[in-house]
Amino acid sequence: MAAQIATGASELRDITKMERIGAHSHIRGLGLDDRLEPRENSEGMVGQAKARKAAGMILKMVQEGRIAGRAMLFAGPPSTGKTAIALGMAQTLGPDVPFTMIAASEVFSLSMSKTEALTQAFRRSIGVRIKEETEIIEGEVVEIQIDRSLTGATKTGKLTIKTVDMETVYDLGTKMIDALSKEKVTAGDIIAIDKTSGKVSKLGRSFARSRDYDAMGADTRFLQCPEGEVQKRKEVVHTVSLHEIDVINSRTQGFLALFAGDTGEIKPELRDQINTKVSEWREEGKAEIIPGVLFIDEVHMLDIECFSFLNRALENEFAPLVIMASNRGMARIRGTTFKSPHGLPADLLDRVLIVTTHPYSDHEVRQIMQIRCAEEDVTLSQKAIDVLALMSKETTLRYVLNLISCADTLARKRKAEVVDINDVQRAYSYFIDEKRSVQWLKEQQGVVYEEGESYISAKNDVMDQS
Ligand code: ATP
Repeated sequence: MAAQIATGASELRDITKMERIGAHSHIRGLGLDDRLEPRENSEGMVGQAKARKAAGMILKMVQEGRIAGRAMLFAGPPSTGKTAIALGMAQTLGPDVPFTMIAASEVFSLSMSKTEALTQAFRRSIGVRIKEETEIIEGEVVEIQIDRSLTGATKTGKLTIKTVDMETVYDLGTKMIDALSKEKVTAGDIIAIDKTSGKVSKLGRSFARSRDYDAMGADTRFLQCPEGEVQKRKEVVHTVSLHEIDVINSRTQGFLALFAGDTGEIKPELRDQINTKVSEWREEGKAEIIPGVLFIDEVHMLDIECFSFLNRALENEFAPLVIMASNRGMARIRGTTFKSPHGLPADLLDRVLIVTTHPYSDHEVRQIMQIRCAEEDVTLSQKAIDVLALMSKETTLRYVLNLISCADTLARKRKAEVVDINDVQRAYSYFIDEKRSVQWLKEQQGVVYEEGESYISAKNDVMDQS
């Protein structure tokens, strides 16, 4: 079975791209210059200079293929741009390098084991760039398409390749087309072409290759023109993820599962076979492994079993760069009674590169608000800007950015073009932020839900998670 592993690559190319809209849609990159120095306000990014620079350095290593099986952690208070920077990295990497984003809690909510969910996320983040028809072997027939309108050629033929280098093949192909169009050669003829001068000589079918080759010098290449239609065969390269190869080859799932998104569990034996095959392709030069990036947000929500899985998976031959983010300080490691920085066990912490993010200055908050206003096509009055900037100190940047569109809706309702301080105040009273929500829960302590669940237990659940 391993010999017939399918990639389904061409069908897949269109469905694997993820559109990111919403909270981070203004992020277009990391906003770094050529020397990886952060620009003050560029590509939707403002401030957080150190973290952006660190992210840029890691990216460079990913792009050069020098880093895989490594992990980094963005640690910092809520709304300080950890996710934004990770998405900036994804934008910089471009569509050909796989970037997978999961929230740690998703691992527990899927209809599969935690480790299977993580394995799938890992394999989604490894690209396999498959080259088709790249191997041109001496003596192989390459078809050359003749554009009759350009050459006026009336003769067709196939080239037998006497060289293995792709560029030369195409170069010779062009000259062959030339020769054909001038009706110098017929199918079956052997022609010699001087690479430098482009001179074409017809050698006849009884050409004694070795002797004449020596006589003609190293720059001469030989082509044979057998019978048949002439068609140019192009090199096709496509990138699919290891997970997609798994799913397509899974007997119980199959290609359509990719559209449904519910790919179920995949047998370890199948993955072993695919790994072996992909390694073979790599050795034969048919495929290239592109280690991508797996971003795990709220990583403190993983439990100790997931962490030990991560530790092991990072050692795997096919491991992506794993970027984690946490807004926790000292926190309990889920599944244990121990506390640890960011809720990560010591052995995992030991192997990650930790990058910290910090709250934004007033000036930076205003710049980010301005970017969001441009993105959402909203105009704020100066007073509205001032009050939102002030509010961000009491709440979070995310809350304030969310209020912009809410206040804009209120302004539009009263047919105003500019969002005023009153719109912001009304939006603030309609939607409470996290601090006020905790306050509200405290006030509600002891009150019993109609369904029998008390607010206290609801509050404890929330507090337990925060
Ligand atoms: P949490 O810990 O709560 O998950 P976070 O650190 O991941 O927060 P983000 O979600 O990245 O924070 O940021 C909150 C909002 O602010 C997002 O809309 C994000 O795009 C925007 N933002 C954050 N930092 C920047 C920045 N440096 N430049 C531009 N926009 C930013």
